Amino acid sequence: MTTRTPLMAGNWKMNLDWKQGLALVEELGEQLQGVDAGKVETVVLPPFVDLRTVQVAVDAGKLPIAYGAQDISAHESGAYTGEVSGAMLSALGCTYAAVGHSERRQYHGETEQVTNAKVKAAFAAGLVPILCVGEPLEERKAGKHVEYTLAQLEGGIEGISAEQAAKIVIAYEPVWAIGTGEVATPDDAQEVCAAIREALRAMHGDAVADAVRVLYGGSVKSSNVGELMQRADVDGALVGGASLKAEEFAKIAGFQG
Ligand code: PEP
Repeated sequence: MTTRTPLMAGNWKMNLDWKQGLALVEELGEQLQGVDAGKVETVVLPPFVDLRTVQVAVDAGKLPIAYGAQDISAHESGAYTGEVSGAMLSALGCTYAAVGHSERRQYHGETEQVTNAKVKAAFAAGLVPILCVGEPLEERKAGKHVEYTLAQLEGGIEGISAEQAAKIVIAYEPVWAIGTGEVATPDDAQEVCAAIREALRAMHGDAVADAVRVLYGGSVKSSNVGELMQRADVDGALVGGASLKAEEFAKIAGFQG
């Protein structure tokens, strides 16, 4: 019997200015009224420039929503034009920082070393990293999806402590399923999420493996989340497109009833 609280995280990507973000987070707060916040954690990952607005709205309305950033600098502070540090995100009340999203890896050339440094920067600032891993289509076709994903996992968490490993969130996002409408089957998601948990067990033992939350991401909607969540090693979802509509994202968060 798992004690892991399911986590539904909405990645807004480069959508919604601060006014639109405010409208979405307020409506999401309303829509979540029917969802038991003790049974699922709902998280939004807005663009950096929306975070202050989200913070004020969540605090003022005591909304059952945690939030975080879509990326974080690997550096602590200083001459890194355009970057945002972990300390700045913490000061905005962020709980989470996504790291190594496939769009960062693909369009910004983020290597395993960079991803690993960002994971460590998040922990150093008291944030929980959501480390994204997952294979491109060629690797899936070649049957190398587990191997590929575990190599990203190992590179991303290298050098973190067992205590940190228990807190980290891993999002398995097969690249071919992101924004394509092509959702992995629940069995596909379970296979890789279980392999991630077993790799963590081998590295850090049972307590870590049983505590860590492993999410699936890739074209999740309210119509397919229920089946995915029935799988033993899927602890939640990282949701892109469907997180931009409050009603739909609240339905995803309320998958249990
Ligand atoms: C994502 O952005 O991480 C994602 C999974 O997107 P989508 O749900 O739109 O496929």
